[in-house]
Amino acid sequence: MHLKTLTLRGFKSFASATTLNFEPGVTCVVGPNGSGKSNVVDALAWVMGEQGAKSLRGGKMEDVIFAGTSGRPPLGRAEVALTIDNTDGALPIEYTEVTISRTLFRNGGSEYAINGQGCRLLDIQDLLSDSGLGREMHVIVGQGQLDAVLRATPEERRGFIEEAAGVLKHRKRKEKALRKLDAMQANLVRLGDLTSEIR
Ligand code: ATP
Repeated sequence: MHLKTLTLRGFKSFASATTLNFEPGVTCVVGPNGSGKSNVVDALAWVMGEQGAKSLRGGKMEDVIFAGTSGRPPLGRAEVALTIDNTDGALPIEYTEVTISRTLFRNGGSEYAINGQGCRLLDIQDLLSDSGLGREMHVIVGQGQLDAVLRATPEERRGFIEEAAGVLKHRKRKEKALRKLDAMQANLVRLGDLTSEIR
């Protein structure tokens, strides 16, 4: 599996449609300060489902939409599409090439798609969750993040390892199931009370 192309349109400083092609191996993005290198990394995280505006270095999610410059008016939407080569079947989907895309409108509406088919955010998260590109992805190491890992509590560090090993998803599912079980248990107790009252 490798990332093939990333297309940004209206995302942060990328007002016009811009496509980056990645070949297998190492890709370096170089440019002067403020030219948009980190915005490319933000776009990668965003299209893969990042929900935290702060993680994208903004105050609110709308900040990812091109805000305009002296020569160009603001845009009404941000779009990012990421094409992944899946010839090795690393993603659990029967396509050798997978394109995930995300669009955010200034009115707050958003759309997600896998290979052009509209889907839910959850579908994208599920698709990527076992690939190491999950929601709490540690494949993107931002400036200052190493410091955060070194200062993490043992519980937080365990979370990093679990995410990397792909077990976090199952732990979250287990916690959800246990919560349902608790609620069910409470209902059973209530039912028992009602039955004994009727008798
Ligand atoms: P450095 O080398 O200093 O880390 P960089 O190349 O990583 O810089 P970025 O942080 O990616 O640069 O880009 C910053 C630029 O993106 C700034 O000029 C900022 O004004 C612009 N920018 C960020 N969000 C938007 C937006 N919503 N609309 C328009 N421009 C934006």
